[in-house]
Amino acid sequence: MNRIMRKFIKEKILADKLAVVVGAGRSGLAAARLLCVLGATVRVVDANDTLDPSIVNDIAGDIELQTGRHSPAQFADADIVVLSPGVPVKRLEPFLKDVPARKIVAELELASWFIEAPVLAVTGSNGKTTTTTLISEILEKSGLRTFTGGNIGTPLCEYLLDMEPVDVIVLEVSSFQLQNCRLFKPHVGLFLNLAPNHLDYHEDMEEYLHAKLNLFAHMNESDAALLHESLRPVLEGRDITRARMEWFGPTDRFEAPHLLGEHNRSNVEAAWQAVRRFGVTEEQAAEAIREFKPLAHRIEPVGEKGDVLFVDDSKATTLEAVVAAVRSFDRPVRLLMGGVFKGGDVAALARDVKDHVRSVALFGASREVFEPELAKMFPVSWDATLDLAVKRLYADANPGDVILLSPGTSSFDLYSGYAQRGNHFQSVVEELA
Ligand code: ADP
Repeated sequence: MNRIMRKFIKEKILADKLAVVVGAGRSGLAAARLLCVLGATVRVVDANDTLDPSIVNDIAGDIELQTGRHSPAQFADADIVVLSPGVPVKRLEPFLKDVPARKIVAELELASWFIEAPVLAVTGSNGKTTTTTLISEILEKSGLRTFTGGNIGTPLCEYLLDMEPVDVIVLEVSSFQLQNCRLFKPHVGLFLNLAPNHLDYHEDMEEYLHAKLNLFAHMNESDAALLHESLRPVLEGRDITRARMEWFGPTDRFEAPHLLGEHNRSNVEAAWQAVRRFGVTEEQAAEAIREFKPLAHRIEPVGEKGDVLFVDDSKATTLEAVVAAVRSFDRPVRLLMGGVFKGGDVAALARDVKDHVRSVALFGASREVFEPELAKMFPVSWDATLDLAVKRLYADANPGDVILLSPGTSSFDLYSGYAQRGNHFQSVVEELA
């Protein structure tokens, strides 16, 4: 635990304050624990009325859990309202309308008030986890102690409470969290790209962009805002930050044998531009990048049979990620798509991959969205389940083809998440092989 935390815990700086935490997941409970040790009275509220009341039992302090439908009364007397990542603020608005906006903060914002180490934060629509993980590996291999978390793994509140202080805090941050940040300020902020993602949640693209740009709003001249060159048309003319703005794009500076595709050359360059601000040398970065393996379910080769390569890109939930994956191969691709459509331009996708794709096998939901556009360019089939679609593609495949699961959707029609979908694909491949 760092000095600031120890001091504030000793002073019980939130004594006599009532904090309401929305969401009793890992981040919400970590926030509740943090607020309790700072002396606050804490009310955790969660719309899920099947939660086990004992989940707050081992949090020492003045704490209660209220589950079931929210009500304005739950928030009326709050001095601060802390939102877990992923809490749909729009749906909460009717209950929060009497709470001043300045009192409503993200878990990330709350934690950021107490950190000492400089923050390197990564946002964007695609490639956050890959780039964040790569950055952490480079920093660690260069001898810097790092904490990696935020949207992935450990919430920042948990780091503050349970872990030893580090040299650099590396965070993957989502628009959901950024939307409710007021002061949070990384030393280096990285904006990888922007795709029409999460449009089911955000009112429109402008609101989504606005949330992302909140990452840079409080930085100052000694900080660095690293922006992908594709963002120029959207960002030019906007007053987004006082930090130095630097643009990056794909380069051949490093050898990254396990990371395929131009998008990954961009992610690698982004990582380099970020880590060099912390004293890492190009040689140190080169070594870590050379060794870095793709994360599970992100253009991950998972088997080969009869010179047909099977690749699991189940994490591709946007059409931009599908294009990036397809274009990573210089061999013909047979593409598996389908699931819960999150938005995007299917006709543009078809045009962007037309020289690379030999056939498309759809599975599960959203056939009506994909088939009409894709069938104009490729042979398209549909099956109710992924295993049938894989077997169909394999029967048609030629030596040299890639069978690529890059669904362009979220997986909740058939699976609990992208990992389960990817694992299912891998087990079907194993059976075939
Ligand atoms: P995120 O955390 O933003 O979802 P991931 O690193 O988990 O990003 O990758 C998600 C998907 O996006 C994968 O299919 C991956 O291959 C693809 N992807 C990674 N980087 C990029 C990029 N720069 N542009 C487009 N797609 C990308």
